[in-house]
Amino acid sequence: MSNIRHHPKTETLAAFAAGRLDEARAVVIATHAAICTECAQAIEEFETVGGAFLEDAEPVALRDDALENVLRRADPGVNVVTPQKPAGDLPETRLPLSAYLEGSIDDVAWRAVAPGLSQSVLKAEGYRPGVLRLLKIAPGVRMPRHSHKGEELTVILRGAYKDEIGDFAVGDLADLDAGDTHTPEAIGDEPCICLIAAAAPLRFKTVLGRIVQPFIGL
Ligand SMILES: [Zn+2]
Repeated sequence: MSNIRHHPKTETLAAFAAGRLDEARAVVIATHAAICTECAQAIEEFETVGGAFLEDAEPVALRDDALENVLRRADPGVNVVTPQKPAGDLPETRLPLSAYLEGSIDDVAWRAVAPGLSQSVLKAEGYRPGVLRLLKIAPGVRMPRHSHKGEELTVILRGAYKDEIGDFAVGDLADLDAGDTHTPEAIGDEPCICLIAAAAPLRFKTVLGRIVQPFIGL
């Protein structure tokens, strides 16, 4: 049923399940998981296995097979089989994001930051603050090329964009590391609206980007 092509990294899902993400990133992951059955189930399995077990695990890098490894090493008495939950096709109003909005996405008060680019910063303080914001990119508009000082999570809520990584449509999530550079461009006929959690300011590669930066306020 799912057309989602881009998912969080396994270690991001594990960190979410263990409650180790800051609030901003947790909201983005929860929003994706509300749309993506596959990731909702992976999170549930991590939770079932237990954060304590993950904490005890050797600090090897978590890879795609990490979940299988964790399950294999878990106490065989633990029931890791979880029922399939109908996580897909949730109406927008039931997304975790709705707790941060007054009304729906249609009611967001956008602030223009550049031609074809506007944003709305949401309050996500939590126990470790991150910056949570909605970004709206007009069709055909390209963001200045930029990299990130820290990790950045982006989930698409409306429309689509493409960048060096691929095409991202509704539900798709970009899980970027510090240093990843990209140039997202909104594609299709409607504006692309994304929910973004940034751990650190963007680093623009171009003069235009550096001019825009103070207006974006990050
Ligand atoms: Zn997913």
